[in-house]
Amino acid sequence: MPEHDEFLSFLDEGKAAPVPPAANKGRPWQVLIVDDDPDVHTTTEFALGDVIIQDRHLEFLHAYSSIEALQLLRQEPQIAVILLDVVMETEDAGLRIIHAIREELRLTHTRIILRTGQPGHAPEIDTINRYDINDYKTKNELVRKKLYTTLTTAIRCYDQLRRLEASRRGLEQIIAASNQFIVEQGLQTFAEGVIAQIAGFAGIEPEGLVCVAAHPTTGAVDDLIPDPHPVITAATGRYRNLIRHHLEEIDDSRIVEHLTRCLIERRSLLDEHSLTLFFTGHEGYDFAAFVDSAGPLCEVDQHLLEVFCINIALCADNVVLVSRLRNQAFVDSLVHLPNRTAFIHTIDQRLKEDQCDQQIIALIDVDQFAEINDMLGHQYGDRLLCAIARRLEQPPLDRCLVARIGGDKFGVFGENRLVQPQILQPIFATPFSAECVEHSVSVSIGFAQFNACPSACGTELLKDASIALKHAKSSGFGQVAYYSDAIRTETRERTRLLNDLRHAFDHDHLFIVYQPQLSLHSGAVIGVESLIRWRTEDGRFVPPDRFIPIAERSGLIVSLGNWVLRTALHALARLRTAGLDQLRMAVNVSAVQFRQPQFPQIVQEALSDTGAHAEDLELEITESVAALGFDYVEKLLRQLKTTGIGVAIDDFGTGFSSLSYLDRLPADRLKIDKSFVWALDSQQPGQRIAEIVIELGRKLGMNVLAEGVETAAQATLLRDLGCDDAQGYYFGKPMLLEDLLSWLSARGKEQQP
Ligand code: C2E
Ligand code: CA
Ligand code: CA
Repeated sequence: MPEHDEFLSFLDEGKAAPVPPAANKGRPWQVLIVDDDPDVHTTTEFALGDVIIQDRHLEFLHAYSSIEALQLLRQEPQIAVILLDVVMETEDAGLRIIHAIREELRLTHTRIILRTGQPGHAPEIDTINRYDINDYKTKNELVRKKLYTTLTTAIRCYDQLRRLEASRRGLEQIIAASNQFIVEQGLQTFAEGVIAQIAGFAGIEPEGLVCVAAHPTTGAVDDLIPDPHPVITAATGRYRNLIRHHLEEIDDSRIVEHLTRCLIERRSLLDEHSLTLFFTGHEGYDFAAFVDSAGPLCEVDQHLLEVFCINIALCADNVVLVSRLRNQAFVDSLVHLPNRTAFIHTIDQRLKEDQCDQQIIALIDVDQFAEINDMLGHQYGDRLLCAIARRLEQPPLDRCLVARIGGDKFGVFGENRLVQPQILQPIFATPFSAECVEHSVSVSIGFAQFNACPSACGTELLKDASIALKHAKSSGFGQVAYYSDAIRTETRERTRLLNDLRHAFDHDHLFIVYQPQLSLHSGAVIGVESLIRWRTEDGRFVPPDRFIPIAERSGLIVSLGNWVLRTALHALARLRTAGLDQLRMAVNVSAVQFRQPQFPQIVQEALSDTGAHAEDLELEITESVAALGFDYVEKLLRQLKTTGIGVAIDDFGTGFSSLSYLDRLPADRLKIDKSFVWALDSQQPGQRIAEIVIELGRKLGMNVLAEGVETAAQATLLRDLGCDDAQGYYFGKPMLLEDLLSWLSARGKEQQP
């Protein structure tokens, strides 16, 4: 840019300076002469024809009336200065078109110099103010020198206004870009955004490359950039194929050279054909962006790009940070799949985009995973989960969203034709092998169809799938179930039942009955089992098999169980007062109660509050406690047993029976499930199970009690097989405490000689 003084000397000399080579560069300034006097046009052009202002020539446009002037202005929005005659077809024709220029054509930067022949036609002061008029001159004032000064000032002013405007737009763009980048996910998207922004500056198609290199000073390499050699992290337009290639691999020497130099010299390189911008990274790496350019950038744009680079470098740091946080928040660290949050988030996203028609979610649960963990160790369990994750990523499920929902549960979301039992189950058909051991795994799957749940969101869908899964699990291992109207109704029904149960519990509609247990050898009553009963207000009985699982699922079983325990121990004290001090009280304990680490304490408190003896209490647990993990269960049982409390394993043979598990559990008694007892004299399959269980209990040094004995034949058979004790309708039904007391005393009298 020429210095100010140069202009002055040029002015004083009164003649045009030689055209400096730079003058050919920019487009000429457009100057519009509006005057109805053709002479004015020629004189002005003659006076200023060879003038150069700020390295640029002048180009004159001519209009001889206001209409012509407006027409021209409409076609040429880049006019820098208008030399406008006030008096033309009317006395104020010139003044009138100013309004049109500013208000209608919105040419706010264009400078206007008014000229008038007669001083009497001077515009009013407020017109000058209102319409942003640069200068007002009478025609005779406009000699070459004065004209030149006025024009130079006006053009400079015009140029500054335009630069200001460009800066404003550029800043807006940068701010918009930064905001945009905050929400971008990951470095690649971010880098593509950078290319688009730079291309916007350069006025070209958004085509380019972004390349990342380890920071030369620290040499640190972020885990997002696995290689210290520069890698292309984003490539758009015709460079698209270069993504993830190393810089050296690109066979365009111009790009390689520019990017390499830029990264080594750690500065931006701008030339007529390309822009290679440098971004300082604070996170252990730098990056550089390359775009082609249509031509040289003006100074304003260059400066803006600089601001852009600094700003974007900061954004890049944030992006890396955010991706890392996002990674931690959304990826399961064990199996490296999206986690529950990511799963729900993605489904919600797709729902928002309306992409969920014909989509279904599957919740896969590994059967008996807790047992696998117990028996083979947690490390094995972890490895198994990873192996399952890898299998779930294989085609055709690679087109679905696969996530680890938690524990041994995996979620799959995708098209109906992919997410279905025929595809999911075979994935688990081949055994998993670890340390040369093959392990067959069965899974239960719950499905929830998106269409079935119109108000769906990710959380809801997952909840439905999990309800379906529970349903599948209730019918055994390896089963599948679809969330359906029936299940929905059942869920609602269960909720109602739970509310009723809560009400019943609070209003003393629950009570306990006691069923005698006898020695098969002596016939003596050795104890009673407490069993809960619920009679509704209209006199119906709800069987415990129906409401106990609901109480377990809701956690109500904890307070319910506590109440049963205390009531039973009170009854025990009553029996003792009645002189029946040989009787033991068996109380059923749910795995949910057992899950509380403070359970032994709760029992201890109940014992001391009721004055019952620990030796007279027997807790019946089922094999479902196995789900809590062997170590935990063993520890808790040992803790209970040190106080003298007995432990019985209930319903033996119906659940998951791991013999190694049984051997290590410190239990005193095995209770044979009634189904095996009934099979004894019925020629049904399973006939021999009772026999085996009796044998097993004996071998493990446990007492064996048969449940559900209904006939004399069953009792005799069991006794002959070596079963110790029994319980069942044949001997006595569960009864109220008062009835039990009379039953016992009647029996006592009977047995007296
Ligand atoms: P369970 O612990 O196996 O209890 C034995 C069940 O067999 C009782 O059913 C009892 O009434 C029934 N029973 C006993 N002898 C015979 C017989 O000769 N024939 C037939 N058909 N049935 C017989 P109930 O009382 O319906 O209880 C069902 C289950 O509910 C219990 O099975 C137990 O698992 C659970 N339950 C009952 N009370 C409680 C409680 O206070 N806490 C917990 N956690 N569970 C309980
Ligand atoms: Ca029981
Ligand atoms: Ca039982």
